Amino acid sequence: MARLLVTGGAGFLGSHLCGRLVELGHQVVCADNFSTGSRDNIRQLLAVPAFELIEHDVTLPLDLDVDGIYHLASPAAPIHYQNDPIRTTRTNVLGAINMLDLARSRGTRILQASTSEVYGDPEVHPQPETYWGRVNPIGTRSCYNEGKRCAETLFFDYWREARTEIKVARIFNTYGPNMHPDDGRVVSNFIVQAIRGEPLTIYGTGSQTRSFCYVDDLVDGLLRLMASPADFTGPANIGNPHEVTMIELAEHVLRLVGGGSKLEFRPLPSDDPRQRCPDISLMRAALGWRPRISLEDGLRQTVAYFQRRLATA
Ligand code: NAD
Ligand code: UDP
Repeated sequence: MARLLVTGGAGFLGSHLCGRLVELGHQVVCADNFSTGSRDNIRQLLAVPAFELIEHDVTLPLDLDVDGIYHLASPAAPIHYQNDPIRTTRTNVLGAINMLDLARSRGTRILQASTSEVYGDPEVHPQPETYWGRVNPIGTRSCYNEGKRCAETLFFDYWREARTEIKVARIFNTYGPNMHPDDGRVVSNFIVQAIRGEPLTIYGTGSQTRSFCYVDDLVDGLLRLMASPADFTGPANIGNPHEVTMIELAEHVLRLVGGGSKLEFRPLPSDDPRQRCPDISLMRAALGWRPRISLEDGLRQTVAYFQRRLATA
C-alpha cells in the first residue's frame, strides 16, 4: 500500500483514477482547485478513510509526504482551456515544475497526463510516439498544446538532470461517466443533445476523425505505465485505435439514444486536427496493454450515465 497524490483528482479522469487506486488498497491524496472538476465526481470517495482531499492550485508549490504522483491537473476541454489561455499555460508549465520538484524532493515516481494534442494536426497517421508533431505555436489551441509540450520537456529534463523517475502518457480522446455535460467535448455534446432531442452540432463537414477510448481502459493503461520498469519513461500513447468520423459518431449516438434529433452543421474551430488515431504498438509490446471496451459498449455506459444525471438535474 502506498500514499499516492493525484492532481486534478476531482476531474473526469482523475476521479476514476482515484477510485481505482482506493479499490487497489492505496491511500490517495487528491489535490484540485475545482476550476473544471467537481465534488460530485468524488462524493463517494469523500466518505472513505483512505481518501483525502486538499484544495490546492498546482501553480503553487506543494510539500507532501507521498510515494508517487499522478499529475493530471489541467483543463482538458477546448472551451475550458481557451477560456483563460494564460492560466492554462501557467497550469501546465508551473504545475509541471512544482510537481516535479515534489517528486525530486521525495524521490518518488511521477506520471504526466500528456495528450495527443502534442501531435497537433498530424501529417503522420496513425501517430507513433516517434512523430514530433505539427503544432501551431501561436493559435487558440496553443496554450494547451504548447503547455503540454513544454511540460513533457520539463519531465525529460528532470529525468536527465535529477534522475527523477518519470512516466509520460500521451492520452488520446477519452470518454465515459463523470464527463461534464457542458464541457463542449464531442461525446458529451452529442449524447446530451440526443437525450434532449436537440440537433447534434457537427463542426465543419464532420469528416474529421478521432479515436475514442473508454475511461476504464485508459485508467488501466495509466496504472500499468506507472508500475513499469524504471527505465521505461515513455512517452507512451494510450488510446483506442478505433477511428471514426464525427458523422459516424453522431450516427452511433443517435442509434443508442433514439429520438428524432437532426444534424446541424457549424463552423470548424481554428486548428481543429483533421485526423487523430494512436499507434499503440509501444504500450502493447512493452506492457501488454490494449483497450478492451468497444465504442458500442462504452457509449452505452456513457449514455446511461447522462440519462441518470440529466434526469436528476
Ligand atoms: P477535467 O477538466 O475533467 O479534469 C482536470 C482537473 O484538473 C479538474 O478537476 C480541475 O479542477 C483540475 N485543475 C485544473 N487546473 C488546476 C490547477 N491549476 N490546480 C489544481 N487543479 C487543477 O479533464 P480530464 O478530461 O479529466 O483531463 C485530465 C488530464 O488528462 C488533463 O491533464 C488533460 O490534459 C489530460 N487529457 C485528457 C484527455 C481526455 O480525453 N479526457 C485527453 C488527453 C489528455
Ligand atoms: N466537435 C463537433 N461537435 C461538437 C463538439 C466537437 O463536431 O459539438 C468536433 C470538434 O470540432 C473536433 C472533434 O469533434 O473535430 C473532437 O472535439 P473535442 O472537443 O471532443 O476534442 P478535441 O478536438 O480536443 O480532440
